[in-house]
Amino acid sequence: MSGQLLISLLSPSIGFLFGAAFFLLWLNQRELNYSLSAAIGFLLSATGFVIQDILPAWPYDLQRIFSNLCFLAGVSTLMAAPLQRRHITPSVRTLTLLITMTMAILSWYLIIQPNLVARIALVSVSLTIPVIITVAKLARIENHRYSDRLVFGVLCFTLALFILRPVLAFLIPESFGNYTALEQSFYWGMVHFTYVLMTVTLAIALFVAIALDLTDELHRQANTDLLSGLLNRRGFETAANVALEHCAQNSQPAALMIADLDHFKRINDTHGHAAGDAVIESIGRRITEVAGNAAISGRLGGEEFAVLLPDHEEAAAVKIAEAIRCGFAAYGVTISPAPTVSIGLAVSGSPAALSALLRVADQALYQAKDGGRDQVCLLSVQARCGP
Ligand code: GH3
Ligand code: MG
Ligand code: MG
Repeated sequence: MSGQLLISLLSPSIGFLFGAAFFLLWLNQRELNYSLSAAIGFLLSATGFVIQDILPAWPYDLQRIFSNLCFLAGVSTLMAAPLQRRHITPSVRTLTLLITMTMAILSWYLIIQPNLVARIALVSVSLTIPVIITVAKLARIENHRYSDRLVFGVLCFTLALFILRPVLAFLIPESFGNYTALEQSFYWGMVHFTYVLMTVTLAIALFVAIALDLTDELHRQANTDLLSGLLNRRGFETAANVALEHCAQNSQPAALMIADLDHFKRINDTHGHAAGDAVIESIGRRITEVAGNAAISGRLGGEEFAVLLPDHEEAAAVKIAEAIRCGFAAYGVTISPAPTVSIGLAVSGSPAALSALLRVADQALYQAKDGGRDQVCLLSVQARCGP
């Protein structure tokens, strides 16, 4: 066994190892479809090296056609993975067309008019196109999370490798070797080197991204109330404190409302617990739609909800509270009489603590209940709590 053969085993071994790892990950978590794409991509490209470097006794042309088909299909599938992770559908038609055209031209330069340099130029360009497509598509969307930036950075690095590799090879004299002994050339050494570099960096970036996505999801679930779709009490308090700190730093006003469903026990008793759950779901949707991204909304417990409106003056806050109160019953709930909600609203012209806002909003809610329910009552934090 020659030393070169041992070195040739390195690239496919790494490809197969990562391919198997991503495949196992997908088997364990089927919703990670991009993990399957990564697995297929790594396995296909590793197979390309096995065909070209290790398998003996193939007709030369046939070997080149199949190995390059594996490389192209492998890189194309690999580049689909980061897109699928961001819910972008890869363009299978474009990639199929690219592979078909490349294979047709490659066959020409292998069989009809043998030309090693043309073949290398062709395959280099074709391998770079899927990377360019993926980088361009990801550059167009927001990459705020660390995991997104990491994957995007590694893809840019891969693109640089794919561009530099042929450029360097064309600049260095005799780097391609001869037509039948490409595998001993400097160029082929660079192919192995860049493949290992790309495989290791991309695989690690994707593993880290999967781990970060998973912790994000666990964090989201720990802070979300499933029934209403709003934050739970813990999530609300954490997010509200951060927002109020921001208000304090910028001397902004804030408003907070507590919404409590009226006679909810009666709804449960009359229509059943499932109908009560539907009402909770309905007000969750109503709050999300009316208050939107400008607000931090949570279910404090039972049938009580809180909505913090940072940087909102009294008039704007009252408008939102009234919009939540009016007509939420239309949101998929058909019980009679239609459910209603009472809202206590605390407004503060200057920075206020969450505890003060909650206390005053609770007092305003009592007033709304005492005043006959199905109404919004407003109290000012300063007026109640003093300076
Ligand atoms: P008020 O108008 O004074 O607020 O009266 P109310 O009946 O709404 O208030 P009360 O506190 O007496 O009852 C709240 C009820 O909410 C009691 C509890 O069974 C019900 N509840 C709490 N959580 C849930 C839930 O997740 N689903 C359903 N269906 N009911 C719930
Ligand atoms: Mg109630
Ligand atoms: Mg209550």
